[in-house]
Amino acid sequence: MYFGSVKFFKHLIIGTICLMIIIPTTFTISLITQNDALKQKMGSAQTKYQQLEGNYQKVSKELAGMYQSEASFEYQKKYPDLYVAQAPKTASSPKTAYLTIDDGPSDKTGQYLEILAKYNAKATFFVTGQTSHEDLQYMKMIVEQGHTLAVHTYSHNYKQIYSSVDAYLEDFYNIYTLIYETTGVKPTIFRFPGGSINNYNRDIYQQIIAEMTRRGFIYYDWNVSSGDASTSASSASIVSNVLNTYSQYENPIILLHDGKTTTLGALEQIVSGIAAGGYKMDKMDNSVKQVSFGYKN
Ligand code: ZN
Repeated sequence: MYFGSVKFFKHLIIGTICLMIIIPTTFTISLITQNDALKQKMGSAQTKYQQLEGNYQKVSKELAGMYQSEASFEYQKKYPDLYVAQAPKTASSPKTAYLTIDDGPSDKTGQYLEILAKYNAKATFFVTGQTSHEDLQYMKMIVEQGHTLAVHTYSHNYKQIYSSVDAYLEDFYNIYTLIYETTGVKPTIFRFPGGSINNYNRDIYQQIIAEMTRRGFIYYDWNVSSGDASTSASSASIVSNVLNTYSQYENPIILLHDGKTTTLGALEQIVSGIAAGGYKMDKMDNSVKQVSFGYKN
């Protein structure tokens, strides 16, 4: 008889002990497994949360950027009198050269004017604002003698004027006002110091051009450089640089500088040479076809 036998009780005790071990173990294992699953769920929830947080930060950054770029157009509201009506583009005049003289007025401007007058040549003076009282008289003479007085820059300080659109506008407004108050002329055209694209304005020239164009002003680069800004230039090199190249263009825009002995020494030969080539030398206004390094139109 098994039931009630010693063997039965032995088995019963062993069985009970086994169950006492198996049941808690199983329970523990299932708890551990559940815990792991929960941990995994928590992990993925955390990842999702981080993703959401990332998205939120991205969106708020974009919103801030939009707000900021809106704010950065504040300069459009500045200088409400700094606008000019654009002229309709006229057909380019045949064989017409445009002498452009930058960085004046100077103590030599009077002599430049004498040479131009001798050949009845007109020119365009892109002037600066760092002037003495005599220089202001030259601004008046430039206008009285039928040349164009145009904006170059007030300070000619590249780092300053190209530091922001606001800084450029402030400088432009200063020279524009000086020209107007001195001569009664409101300039309509301008030239960028260093040309429209240079090493100082690469990041900002498009914004400045957009703003000045919106205000109606037209800038002109050049297609003939006399090379007179170079320290190694001589009157002879300036003459040959201009006379060897200008006739490639129907409307050469020739870059020269005021205040230079070398340029002054070259000017008469340049003017007489161009006249001998059958070209008229006229002043520029905003109906002249633009010559631009950056944009073609
Ligand atoms: Zn200059």
